Amino acid sequence: MGAADTEVLVIGGGVQGVGVAQAAAAAGHRVLCLERTRIAAGTSSRSSKLIHGGLRYLESFQLRLVRESLRERQILLRIAPHLVELVPFFIPVYHDTSRGPWTLRAGLSLYALLGGLRQDARFQVVPRPAWPSLDGLNLEGLRTVFRYHDGQTDDAALCRAVAASAAELGAVVLEGAEVVGANHDADGWRVRYRIDAEVRELVARVVVNATGPWANRLLDRVTPSPARREVELVGGTHLELSGRLGQGIYYAEAPQDQRAVFFMPWKGHVLVGTTEAPYEGDPAAVAPTAEEVTYLREVTRHFFPGLDNGPLDAWSGLRVLPKAEGRAFHRTREVLLAEDRATKPTFITLYGGKLTGYRATAARVMRRLAPSLPAAERKADTATLTLPADPG
Ligand SMILES: Cc1cc2nc3c(=O)[nH]c(=O)nc-3n(C[C@H](O)[C@H](O)[C@H](O)COP(=O)(O)OP(=O)(O)OC[C@H]3O[C@@H](n4cnc5c(N)ncnc54)[C@H](O)[C@@H]3O)c2cc1C
Repeated sequence: MGAADTEVLVIGGGVQGVGVAQAAAAAGHRVLCLERTRIAAGTSSRSSKLIHGGLRYLESFQLRLVRESLRERQILLRIAPHLVELVPFFIPVYHDTSRGPWTLRAGLSLYALLGGLRQDARFQVVPRPAWPSLDGLNLEGLRTVFRYHDGQTDDAALCRAVAASAAELGAVVLEGAEVVGANHDADGWRVRYRIDAEVRELVARVVVNATGPWANRLLDRVTPSPARREVELVGGTHLELSGRLGQGIYYAEAPQDQRAVFFMPWKGHVLVGTTEAPYEGDPAAVAPTAEEVTYLREVTRHFFPGLDNGPLDAWSGLRVLPKAEGRAFHRTREVLLAEDRATKPTFITLYGGKLTGYRATAARVMRRLAPSLPAAERKADTATLTLPADPG
């Protein structure tokens, strides 16, 4: 390839990367997305698979994030009904639960308000006679059970569908293509990538570093080094258990440490997660620790004593959180951007964010990049464009 081969180069084929590739292609630009291994091989296949506002983020007053996420949930329910569905969520409150019924009632009311008070945004209290139908939930010491609705998806399938949509809009998406270095010169960003054991070079007008947990490792190979954020990687483990949950998703507070834990129906089995453990080292090597597995098995035994808690499978993913003191739980889940310059940025790095908000994040990135890109004719609006089926 020669000078300015592509207008927008996206590095990373997780949900944020393919989201930006889709938005840039929809805006009419020439787009290339390079993924080191496979689409959704990183965090985007290891999430809790919820398309949600994030009820618990209300506790840390992330109201903007919750409102935006609820708006995105509605959009995804419209443009991807084959990939995202609204599911009943149950919150059991026990005598020893730290968040009492009134705290939860206040939180759920605010959540409904931020969700526009639509019918599906409202919550109810499950009447006591209906408790025995709750999939074998531990009823000892139970005071109240709340029921509301939120979204569930197959994260990897959603990510692949967004990548397919980007390709339909004209983006080139390459798997097995690892960026190994980049430098800036008079032509733009000269980027080297390895594909089929061969190193190739291309020139891009703007670059979006959407490599998730690898973001700062990639920046180490870029000159001049663009702005970066100091971040911490926090591992989260899920277990897949045999058994079924017929009623919906359960959102409980772990008795050990008051952390939120989900129990979800998943492809005929049950998923339970997650944990939070600081992680250093190669992001590709993240794996559940024995302590995490024991913790999740104990939480399962406590809430669903009838479920076989011997895991069929277990995996971990990495949250990218701003470096700060205190529990990971309270740190912002907003996506953070680092740009090489304040006006007309040409290199943007994305940190963190949510699966749910990939489309809004991509729109934000494109707004920042627009002044650095040539005028183009818009092909589609990602808020109304139906996503294709998961190409598998
Ligand atoms: C345990 C856990 C649970 C979560 N649950 C939810 C949830 O329920 N709902 C929700 O909305 N969000 C959730 N999230 C957040 C969500 O999963 C992430 O925000 C999202 O998946 C991050 O996507 P990404 O594209 O930034 O990163 P990734 O998906 O990690 O993608 C980065 C990609 O970059 C590639 N890459 C790396 N280096 C290079 C290179 N040099 N060249 C080319 N490619 C490269 C990698 O192979 C990888 O595919 C959760 C996160 C975790 C960790």
